[in-house]
Amino acid sequence: MITIALSKGRIFEETVPLLAASGITLSEDPETSRKLILATNKPDVRVILVRASDVPTYVQYGAADVGVAGRDLLAEHGGQGLYQPLDLGIAKCRMVVAVREGFDYARAVRQGARVRVATKYIGTAREHFAAKGVHVDLIKLYGSMELAPLVGLADAIVDLVDTGHTLRANKLIAVEDILPVSAHLIVNPASLKLKRETLAPLIEAFGKAARG
Ligand code: AMP
Repeated sequence: MITIALSKGRIFEETVPLLAASGITLSEDPETSRKLILATNKPDVRVILVRASDVPTYVQYGAADVGVAGRDLLAEHGGQGLYQPLDLGIAKCRMVVAVREGFDYARAVRQGARVRVATKYIGTAREHFAAKGVHVDLIKLYGSMELAPLVGLADAIVDLVDTGHTLRANKLIAVEDILPVSAHLIVNPASLKLKRETLAPLIEAFGKAARG
């Protein structure tokens, strides 16, 4: 049995065509079925639905053989125990530092002031600011980061931006790029050894489909 870990939403939607190109179609629609384990047209392949930030963990521990995870979450997870053979080029966005319009970020940094930064990407943010020598106090959030600078919780946020609509709608501007983000295929190294016969063709088909 091959278990593929995916998260609902953009990653799921953009992975379905890659699965199809590998000859795998889902027997159920996750939006209507509410099941967390989905069967496919192949009796020995199943898909599990987990929270996006949990995908690396399921694959690391071998509960899933392969998964699709954003580079943002892989950076935060650290990537230990994961083979990362492919950038799938899907679910693309950028990780940025953003502040309220009118907040003089450059000045705050120049003056060596401690900048309060709210994010769910604590590890990545800590590394980014440490490398730049910027003093920050990090505040962990789990969602709606854009709200934090508007209500005085933080001076800045580290978050993902795609179209920029959410930032604009909340009068925020990106002041620094941290990481270009896209979803990667991740594989459990032990699975790759033990199930190479099934996994190697799957990885190859994914690579071919991703390259278009
Ligand atoms: P946008 O308004 O298109 O710039 O999208 C920004 C919002 O969507 C933010 O709240 C992000 O956290 C979220 N977002 C954008 N791209 C992604 C992605 N690839 N994966 C997860 N969340 C994303």
